[in-house]
Amino acid sequence: MDFTPSPRAAELAERVKAFVRDEVIPLESRATHADGLPPELLAELRLKAGAAGLFGPQLPADYGGLGLDLLECCPVFEAAGRSLLGPLALNCSAPDEGNIHLLHLIASAEQKDRYLRPLAEGRIRSCFAMTEPAPGAGSDPTMIQTRAERRGDEWVINGHKWFASGADGASFYIVMARTDPEVPAAEGCTLFLVDAGTPGMRIQRRIEGLTVASPGGHCELFFEDCVVPAGRVLGAPGKGFKLTQLRLGPARLTHCMRWTGVAQRALELAAARATDRSAFGARLAQHEAIQWMLADSEIDLHAGRMMILQAAWLITQGQEARRETSMCKVFVSEAINRVIDRAVQICGSLGVADDLPLASFYREARAFRIYDGPSEVHRMVIARGLLKQFQVGRRPQGEARRANCYATNCCIPKFWRRSAGPGMDRRF
Ligand SMILES: Cc1cc2nc3c(=O)[nH]c(=O)nc-3n(C[C@H](O)[C@H](O)[C@H](O)COP(=O)(O)OP(=O)(O)OC[C@H]3O[C@@H](n4cnc5c(N)ncnc54)[C@H](O)[C@@H]3O)c2cc1C
Repeated sequence: MDFTPSPRAAELAERVKAFVRDEVIPLESRATHADGLPPELLAELRLKAGAAGLFGPQLPADYGGLGLDLLECCPVFEAAGRSLLGPLALNCSAPDEGNIHLLHLIASAEQKDRYLRPLAEGRIRSCFAMTEPAPGAGSDPTMIQTRAERRGDEWVINGHKWFASGADGASFYIVMARTDPEVPAAEGCTLFLVDAGTPGMRIQRRIEGLTVASPGGHCELFFEDCVVPAGRVLGAPGKGFKLTQLRLGPARLTHCMRWTGVAQRALELAAARATDRSAFGARLAQHEAIQWMLADSEIDLHAGRMMILQAAWLITQGQEARRETSMCKVFVSEAINRVIDRAVQICGSLGVADDLPLASFYREARAFRIYDGPSEVHRMVIARGLLKQFQVGRRPQGEARRANCYATNCCIPKFWRRSAGPGMDRRF
């Protein structure tokens, strides 16, 4: 595997980095904790990004973008992520970026004209509403309670969603609902395109909390006899779960790319401070404890980048890479939290003051260990994949088979004869 960025991606990443440094970071002080950047400033930034040829790095060329593949996106999204506002300026931020990807893959021609084009051009915003408050869908999406019922040429949606990012001010919502209660949820759910302002759909509130930086907040929504035409089904009825995977896999990686940019900047701020500030007769950077924190952060970022690149590479080779994406999501979401936390520690009181962006990074980063699948759920999926190879009646393959042999100091056929009962081998 050669992960040298293509000349186009390398050149673009440098230009994005410079754009974020010169145009975006100076506006960070104008963004408020509650409302982010004022819309007129964001519009201005996007015009500048367009004029600089940086708008929509991941967007297909026929939608006015630069058409980078997922591997090429790695350095470019990281450069954009150096400010929480960078991805917004370039129109490669969540949730729009993932929604654009999904619409481009599966929307009908009419849906593309109506939803994808204005979204890709940055004229509107969108939202993806799957999660529900208890007892509904969360970590376990099969617990979905929202229902949609077919009545003639229409669907009637009833349900309750929350943590729908960007909902306030979005022009449309991609909503997951159960359409066939007779089959397992994984085969009985459908995605719908619901226009803002459709009767029966309402935003109950923006949920206040640790993380607020997304325009449109994270909202609680109600659907009460909300009627949408049959033509607003995205993809096909019953395919909601499968299609959501198309969106979530790459979107997890692009989140990792952007957050790596945030954490890299946090590390640089900490290194600069450590070089500048003295304590106990020496620069902070001369104390070994500080050097170790800096080194650990460098290691975390390097390992995370390698994992992102490898998973992105697999996807560009046409593989699903679900296991690699899950591993990457767990590692990077936890690593960037460690890096930001260490940066705060190194900067001391300045680290928690809003004079530096570290405090806002710290607030926003925490949720990344929860959204797009909490770490525990990804670990569960990874472990299940691993343990499958050790189930009774299934012969381990390749490395696993050899490892099993070394670990038990016995030959494989004997091991399989011993473990005849149902379930896992008793040695676990
Ligand atoms: C900032 C933010 C933005 C979001 N944006 C969106 C959005 O745009 N659209 C959308 O649909 N959703 C969104 N979400 C929701 C997000 O996807 C869910 O929070 C996530 O899927 C977890 O669901 P839950 O919060 O209901 O947690 P729960 O299902 O209640 O789980 C709570 C905790 O239980 C633990 N847990 C769960 N399962 C297991 C297990 N098998 N083993 C061990 N521990 C387990 C985990 O620690 C988990 O954090 C967002 C959430 C946040 C915080």
